[in-house]
Amino acid sequence: MTSDSAVVLEIREAHKSYGTRAALNGAAFSLRKGEWLALLGPNGAGKTTLVRTIAGRLQLDRGEIALHGQTLSPQDQAARRQLGIVPQELALYPNLTARENLDIFGRFHGVGGQELKDKINWALDWIALADRANERIKGFSGGMKRRLNIAAAVLHQPSVIMLDEPTVGVDPQSRERIWQMLNQLRAEGASLVLTTHQLDEAQTICDRIVIIDGGRTIAAGTLEELITQTIGPQRGVFCKVRDAQGAVEEEHHAVDDLSEALPSLLSTLKTQNKQLLDLRIQAPTLQAVFLHLTGKELRE
Ligand code: ATP
Repeated sequence: MTSDSAVVLEIREAHKSYGTRAALNGAAFSLRKGEWLALLGPNGAGKTTLVRTIAGRLQLDRGEIALHGQTLSPQDQAARRQLGIVPQELALYPNLTARENLDIFGRFHGVGGQELKDKINWALDWIALADRANERIKGFSGGMKRRLNIAAAVLHQPSVIMLDEPTVGVDPQSRERIWQMLNQLRAEGASLVLTTHQLDEAQTICDRIVIIDGGRTIAAGTLEELITQTIGPQRGVFCKVRDAQGAVEEEHHAVDDLSEALPSLLSTLKTQNKQLLDLRIQAPTLQAVFLHLTGKELRE
C-alpha cells in the first residue's frame, strides 16, 4: 500500500571505504513518496559515493539500500529501472545527435518501439531542444547538454530520481529551465534526491534536508526542524545608526518576536538620540544551520 508518507528509498547504515579511507561511515536517509530531499555535505562528505552505490556503480561494504521496500542487490539493474540517476559528470555521446542520445538511453532503460519514439519527442519538447534534435551534441552549450543529460536519465519515467549537482556551471537561464523541468516531474509524482552546494536553492526547493559529514548523517529534517535543533528561530536585526556626536556604527540584536522587539528597539534609539540610517532583518538560513552543524562553509 502506498500513501503520501510511504518511504520509496531507504539507505541504512551505509559503509564504504577506499583502502583505509572511509567515504561512508553509517550514512542513512529515507525518501518519501513525492518528496524532494536535499543531500548536503562539505567536500568529501561522501555524497557522490552514496549516489554511486545507489546507482549500482559501486558496492557498499556494509549497509542496505531499499527501493520501494525491496532490498537492492548491487547487481540488480532491472530493479534499478525505477531509478533515474543524473550523474555529476555529463554522460552523453558527443558525436551523436540529441535524438540518438535519447534513443540509446531509452533502450538502455528498457523502453522501445513506438513508446520510445513518443517519449523522445516528449523529452525534446520538455528540454526545449526539439529544433536542435538532429544536431550532433558536441556543438551544444553546457546548459543544453545538462538539460539533455537530465532528459536521458528520466526518459523512462522513473519513480525515484537522484541528481548530483544538476546545475553546476549552468547559466541562470538554463538553471531556471532545469528547475522548471524538475518541478514538472515532481508534479507528476516523482520523488527526488538532490545533492547540491547551492544552499539557497536547497532551502527554497526541497521539502527536507539531510546533512552528511565524514560519511555519516549528522542531521535530517525540514528547514524549520533543523533551525529549531541548531541556531534557533531568532531573527538577526542589524541597525546602522548615527549618534548625537555624528559617529556611525552598526548594532546587532537577536530577537525572538519581531513585532514585540522592533517598536521597543526604535524607541530606545530615539531615547539615546540615535538616528536610524539603515535596518536589515535576517531570518535564520540553511547556510547558518550548515555552518553550525559542520563548522564549515559549503563551497563548490
Ligand atoms: P564533493 O562535495 O567534493 O563532491 P562528496 O561529498 O561527493 O564531495 P565523495 O566524492 O563521495 O564526497 O568522497 C568521499 C571521500 O571518499 C573523500 O575523502 C574522497 O577523497 C574519497 N574518495 C572518493 N572517491 C574515491 C576513489 N575512487 N578512490 C579513493 N578515494 C575516493
